[in-house]
Amino acid sequence: MTSGKQYVDSVFEKVKAQNGHEAEFLQAVEEVFDSLVPVFDKYPKYIEENLLERLVEPERIVSFRVPWVDDKGQVQVNRGFRVQFSSAIGPYKGGLRFHPSVNQSIIKFLGFEQIFKNSLTGLPIGGGKGGSNFDPKGKSDNEIMRFCQSFMTELSKHIGADTDVPAGDIGVGGREIGYLYGQYKRLRNEYTGVLTGKGLTYGGSLTRTEATGYGVVYFAEQMLKSKGEDFNGKTAIVSGSGNVAIYAIQKLHSLGAKVVACSDSSGYIYDEEGINVDTLKQLKEVERARIVQYLEHHPNAHFTPAGPDSSIWTVKADLAFPCATQNELNDADARALVGNGVIAVAEGANMPSTLEAIEVFHASGVLFGPAKAANAGGVAVSALEMSQNSQRLAWSFEEVDAKLYDIMKGIYENAAAAAKEFDAEGNLVVGANIAGFLKVAEAMSAQGIV
Ligand code: GLU
Repeated sequence: MTSGKQYVDSVFEKVKAQNGHEAEFLQAVEEVFDSLVPVFDKYPKYIEENLLERLVEPERIVSFRVPWVDDKGQVQVNRGFRVQFSSAIGPYKGGLRFHPSVNQSIIKFLGFEQIFKNSLTGLPIGGGKGGSNFDPKGKSDNEIMRFCQSFMTELSKHIGADTDVPAGDIGVGGREIGYLYGQYKRLRNEYTGVLTGKGLTYGGSLTRTEATGYGVVYFAEQMLKSKGEDFNGKTAIVSGSGNVAIYAIQKLHSLGAKVVACSDSSGYIYDEEGINVDTLKQLKEVERARIVQYLEHHPNAHFTPAGPDSSIWTVKADLAFPCATQNELNDADARALVGNGVIAVAEGANMPSTLEAIEVFHASGVLFGPAKAANAGGVAVSALEMSQNSQRLAWSFEEVDAKLYDIMKGIYENAAAAAKEFDAEGNLVVGANIAGFLKVAEAMSAQGIV
């Protein structure tokens, strides 16, 4: 009989052979596959059903041309993607990323992670992701609008409130969702919850803006609690300065921690007095400025420009929240954090730690909350936005926040319990992967070979 290890290894070899050039996708797949070996030993019928090879192949990938006209009247062309990865437990759900680094590998890694993340929320949402190599930086509002309208003109053919519901990710926030929604409505002449992260005046949910940042902090709170600890008096690093980072910092401060460093792609700020969230919001949400301008408001803070010898992870802190982007924290960074006595790391971005960095954290006994569990708060509240849209009702901030809190606590408990059941107590990577997988696997198995 084939063992779990033999089966998982053989599927991984096929995935590598067919997607050898997709480094980020392979990285995400390897991490999940390693965790799932004992699951296939326990449930050999999933080997018979070749469930893993089916799951790792996206149900559908759409790649399309996005032509648009810039402010100088020049015609520009970008590439758009939507990966509809798994609809086993609900309509495809996941964000859109606009960033020059976007390619099929990036969208597939994000879509693959999204399957497990969405399953962990306990809500009925499948896994998908999309985006474009369009760079919103330095573009005028009109250019952003024209790009979004062109992008949606094609995307609208593939999505729908009961089929596939995109949202934001890096480079796609409230402004972009507004333009995308307006174009969808115009093309289809229907007012449905086809996107989440919408504005509050046209079907958005209270707490959605804050949800990923708040959620990662609620998750970290559970991790600390398992060791009899809390946030009081602790220092923290939060990389990034976008939507996830801003609301993680705000929640950390309200729970008694002090965030001393944050960053953008140009470098990082160290502020011994604690990062001022109002300044950060003004710079990043209103002015769309570079983070160095923080110094104009807080001259005692320090700015370190990005470069090969500069890393926000060399700042001494008790807690670390990577909330910027994939592979922003490598093994050297992890060793620097451990050397400075970090006790917990919770991922707000998707796959911010390399596989080697995660090994360092586990080997050093650092509490580690993996992205697909720790940052699931954003998509969880997106699913709550879908529910409100279907009911044509709007819930209060307190109601949605309380649901978010319970969902994050539930994810922690499920991941911790699965890790224990499969002989990896304390390993939330294994626990999250297994807990997320089991629901999807059961649904796939019940639905036959499709
Ligand atoms: N982009 C977010 C994520 O990585 C949110 C997706 C959503 O709300 O659909 O989970």
